[in-house]
Parts: sequence; C-alpha cells; structure tokens
Amino acid sequence: MELKDLPGLGPKRIKLLKEQGIYNISDLLRYIPRNHLDRTIVQKINNINEGDDVVLIGKVIRSQLAGAFRKQRLILNFSDGSGEVQLVFFHAIEIWERRLKEGKRLAIFGKIQSYNGWQIVHPDIRELKETESYQGEITPIYPLSEAMKASKIEQNFLRKLIQPLFENVLIEKLFPNQNIPSELRKELALTNEFENLRKLHFPKTIAEVNEAYRQLKLQELLPFCMRMVARRQRIKARGKSHILKNSSKGYAEIIKAQLPFELTKGQEKVIAQIKKGMAKPHQYQALLQGDVGSGKTIVAILAMTEALEAGYQVAIMAPTDILVRQHHQFMQGLLREIGVDLTLVTGDLKAKARKEILLGLETGIIKCAIGTHALFSKDVVFSNLGFIVVDEQHRFGVGQREALLQKGDDPDMLVMSATPIPRSLTMTLYGDLEAIILDEKPAGRKEIKSRLIDAKKRQNMKQYILKEIKDGNQCYWIVPRVADIDDQLKSVEEVFEELKKFSTEWIVGFVHGKVDEYDKGKTLEEFNSGKIGVLVATTVVEVGVDVPNSNIIVIEQPERFGLAQLHQLRGRVGRGDKQAWCFLMINQDNPAYQRINDFAETTDGFEIAELDLQNRGSGNLEGVEQSGAKLFKYFDLLEDKEMIESSFIQAEAILENKLELNDEAMNEIKIWIAKEEPDHGIH
Ligand code: ADP
Ligand code: MG
Repeated sequence: MELKDLPGLGPKRIKLLKEQGIYNISDLLRYIPRNHLDRTIVQKINNINEGDDVVLIGKVIRSQLAGAFRKQRLILNFSDGSGEVQLVFFHAIEIWERRLKEGKRLAIFGKIQSYNGWQIVHPDIRELKETESYQGEITPIYPLSEAMKASKIEQNFLRKLIQPLFENVLIEKLFPNQNIPSELRKELALTNEFENLRKLHFPKTIAEVNEAYRQLKLQELLPFCMRMVARRQRIKARGKSHILKNSSKGYAEIIKAQLPFELTKGQEKVIAQIKKGMAKPHQYQALLQGDVGSGKTIVAILAMTEALEAGYQVAIMAPTDILVRQHHQFMQGLLREIGVDLTLVTGDLKAKARKEILLGLETGIIKCAIGTHALFSKDVVFSNLGFIVVDEQHRFGVGQREALLQKGDDPDMLVMSATPIPRSLTMTLYGDLEAIILDEKPAGRKEIKSRLIDAKKRQNMKQYILKEIKDGNQCYWIVPRVADIDDQLKSVEEVFEELKKFSTEWIVGFVHGKVDEYDKGKTLEEFNSGKIGVLVATTVVEVGVDVPNSNIIVIEQPERFGLAQLHQLRGRVGRGDKQAWCFLMINQDNPAYQRINDFAETTDGFEIAELDLQNRGSGNLEGVEQSGAKLFKYFDLLEDKEMIESSFIQAEAILENKLELNDEAMNEIKIWIAKEEPDHGIH
C-alpha cells in the first residue's frame, strides 16, 4: 500500500507530505503527534464556567442561520440535558448545517464564552451514533506546516488518515522491530514500535501516551549508548605497546621556560589530566573543549612533549592550510628548544619533497609532523606513531578520526574542539572520549564588545575603522561568500575594492577559499606583521587564526552564519590586551535580528552552543551532521537530554550483565552490537 492509495491524498497533498519527510505509509505512522489533549473528563453544562475548556456530550436541539449575507453565521443550540450551549460557526456554514442536523448526537470540545448565555465558537466535533458509548478521548495534536494547513491537511484529517491504518495487519509488518534483541526487550518490558505508535496516534490514557514516547526514545537511545559503552570498553582493552616512561629530559619544563606567559590554573589542570590518561596502560582518547582563545594549543604542545620524550612520533592534524601553517610557525619555535623539528605537510608539496617526507615518516627520522588531512592519506606510513592531536575536530568528518588511529599502533589521541558543544551532545556524540574542559581564559583579556550596526551606516563604519587603523589597530572584515550569483551579496573582492577606494591611508588585503595557498600565506603574514590594516575575508579565517594585534571584526550579513560560527569569527579578536570590538551589520527589520542580538549579548561559548542548539535544532549543528545525530527520529538531544545519563548507566549495566541474562541472551546482545555498528561515521 502506498500513500496514493489512502483516501483524500492526491498528488498535491502527497507532495506536501514529502516535504515533511513522509514518503510512505511507515513514515506517515512515524509522523507522531507533538502533544495530546486530555479530553477524558466529560462535563455537565450546568457546571461549567466562562473560559473553561470543556468536553460535552449531547444533542443538537435547534439549528438556525443568523445575520445577513457575508456576515451569516450558523447557530446550533446544543443540550446535554443539564443545560444549553450555543455552537457558533462562521466558516463552512453549509457543510456544518448539513452535517449537524437537529437531533444529531455529538461530542464537542472548545472554550466556553459568555454571550447571551454560553457559547462555543467553532468547537472541535465528533459525530456520535445514537447508542455509541463514548467517554471522551485523548486527542493527538500533530505538527502542521503552513503549507499543510493551506491544503487542508489538518488535525482531523491526519487523525482520520492515520487511525484506520492501525487495523491493518499488513501494515504492522512494515515495522520489523529489530531495534533491540528480543531477550533484552523482554527483560526491559519494551513494547514494539508499532504498538507504541498506536498508543500515540490512538491513545486511551495520558499515562499510556507518556510511556509510548519514553519507549520510542529509549529504543533509539539505548542501542546507541550500548554501542558507545562497548566502544569505550574496546578502547580500554586495546593494551598499547607504548607506555610513557618517566624520563629526565624535562621537555615540558624547557618549553614552559620559553613561553612569554604563565600557564593558567585551568591549563595546568587539563595538562595533568591528559598526562594521566596517556600514562594509562591502554589506549587513551580525549576531547578537549575550551572556548575560543582559552589557550588549547599550548596544552596540546605540552601533551605532545610527553610522547616525544618517550620516543614516539607525534602527528598534528588541523582542518585548513592557514591553520596548519600558523600552528607550524608557533610550535616550531618551541619544539626546536627540545631538539625536535616540526615537519610541515601541505597539499601543495612538490612530488620530490613529499617523497622525502614520506620516507622520513616511515623510517622514523621525522619525529613530529603537522598537516591537513593530507598528512593521513593512504600512502603515509609512520614508524611508531604514539600520539595524535586533532585540532578543530568539528571540521572533520568523523570517519577520519578512526582512520587516523589506524596509522599507528593504537596511538593515544587528543581531539580539540573550539566550538564548545552542549553537554548533552558531548555525552552522546563523543561519549566514547574522555571529556576534558578548559574553562578558564588567560587573565587580563578584556571582554569583546559586540554591537549591531544598521547596514545604512556603512559609511560611518568605514570612517570609524579608518580612524582605528590609523591608531595602530587592525581589523577583519568578514563577508559571507565569494562571488555569489546573488549580486546582493558582497563578494570579498568587491568589498576589497570598495575599502581600497575609500582611503589611501590604509592597506587592505583579502583572502578567501579560492586564493591560492602561496598568496594566502603571504597576505596572512602581512596581516600578522601589521602591514595590512584591514583584512577582507570569508570564513577561511574562522578557525584558529591568531593575530593578537587585530582587535576589530566587522561581520556582514551575520544572519547567514550559525551562532557557533559567529562565535568562532568573533574569537579572532580580543587575543591581545586591547579592547576588542565585533560589529554585526544587520538591519532591525531582519527576521534574524533577535538571534543576532542574543548572540551579541553573551560571550560565553557554552551558552552560545546551547542557543544554537535551540535555534537550529540538533540536526543542523555544525559537527553534528557528520556525526549522524540525525539518526534519532524520536529522541531529541535538546528536549530529552535528561534521558542521556540514565541511558548510559542502563547500557553499562546491561553490558556488565547486571540484569543477569543467560549466556545465550548476552551472546545475542554482543553479536547484535558488533553487527549493527551503524554507518553514521561516529566510529
Ligand atoms: P584556542 O584555545 O582558541 O586554540 P590559542 O591556543 O590559539 O587558543 O591561544 C590564544 C592566544 O592566547 C594565543 O596567542 C596564545 O599564545 C595565548 N595564550 C595561551 N595561553 C596563555 C596564557 N596562559 N596566558 C596568556 N596568553 C596565553
Ligand atoms: Mg585553536
């Protein structure tokens, strides 16, 4: 059976349903109600008050049309024996008049108004047979898009469409229910998906509804948690060949002595935490989260020295060439002090140079290398890779993480995320990694001030920036996209020309994704050295770029960015000790104004991550898409986050067989976990 076989579904409505992700009958059944109205308490008319939401059962005793043409309305007098209510209709009068004749028995739902006695305008109606027993109902309320409403796909329509499907045995077969092994289902008293859906579409009690929601969510979340726990156990079971010996070279001290600053307490704490993890006799994987500018790079360097000191190779991967070069520059100086040369592996290496590097890595002559994912392409072989650092991990497809691990003999791995991730997400998506949080920023940083600027004030904006540049400051000017067909969008090069023309007193530069590596590097160097005053750029500077003297960032069309991304961009400034400013060019009538304003009001990355999650839904969050969070149909990372912790605990209990299942059942579970390792890239 297909959608087109259902009554009332023509091509137009089918198209609309597709827009909601409903392609077939099982999708339709999985289109679950948003909430339910409890209409099980039937009232008596002599007992109702103004403003009550009521459920009444009675009969139409009189039907009359009132008012003149165009302002006509239908008034039905409705009685339940204890009193009367007038039901008033302004729309579809003829239809209602025809259907609700005098003597007709009805159940009605609506809000009581006082107007010449009691009245209800356009009540929700069930037509009842003369002798039908009816005790009220729990009414499912479906999410409806505007387009659906316009095509008269409404609550009653969906209800009538969906409810009969539950009587069809063939349809039950569409839900094969292999989500969780049968013994475990039994043990946890789980009902199958089809029955749970029936309870949501066709509920008898609110308790039943709540239980059905819980079960549907749990049946998605629990397998996920079990796989995650199994994966954690596997990581622990991978005994590693490399144990970090206590050596006396004192690499870390040498490096610390070179730093122009003292480490913060937060940095000291996370470094100790990571070192402890690396010293464990099994493989160690951790996710280091810290807000933009919290100083994660030096944490990574000090962790790396542990592995280097013990004689292992170390590899660092970052998502863009710009970031790779910049890290290279910063790290190289420090690593040299301990006699380690940091090799740069970029995509544009000449064949000969590349060959030499590959040889160096394979023989172990090269101890430490940094690159984009080019560093981990197939032909790269390491001799004894012991530690991997992945910077800005959210930029990488998640499959890449596992691929890296294959390059060594169960190396330890530190992944760093610049975009703080809401706790609920960290627990689920990265539940197999140890979560380490760096929540302290280096002292003395001034809070970045953010202001929304009307696009009409563009000239003033330029004037202001010019003055700042003349005072020795530097500015990023961020533009959403390069040479978009949509000519409303300013492209980088246009803005570059515009700013260049504006004054001869500043030097303007530009970078975007299509500028070749050499020019990009050169421009960034000139910006870094202070020669270039204003850098017009796309989000290529979003991650990691660190030019402490730049203290102003102008962002055009900020509504085109996610909040986490804006936070990243804003994090490019405020790295030195000058007051930093972020100007967001947006007009007040822009629908996104409020969102951008909320962003301007906070600088807390974790708070912004939560805001982003609320605004965009978990499926659209950067880094989540690759991680397969869309995998969840019923479970919502934001709304149901309180389920996560308990599900992990339950998953652990199951895998440790605290439920005391027999061997056969446990075997079934283990095979199922291994087999169903889903291909959503998390592993
Ligand atoms: P992120 O966490 O965003 O990667 P970085 O590691 O790039 O941050 O550090 C941001 C800036 O702060 C760099 O210029 C870095 O040298 C500096 N920094 C790091 N740690 C400290 C510290 N303890 N005190 C002062 N400055 C620091
Ligand atoms: Mg960084």
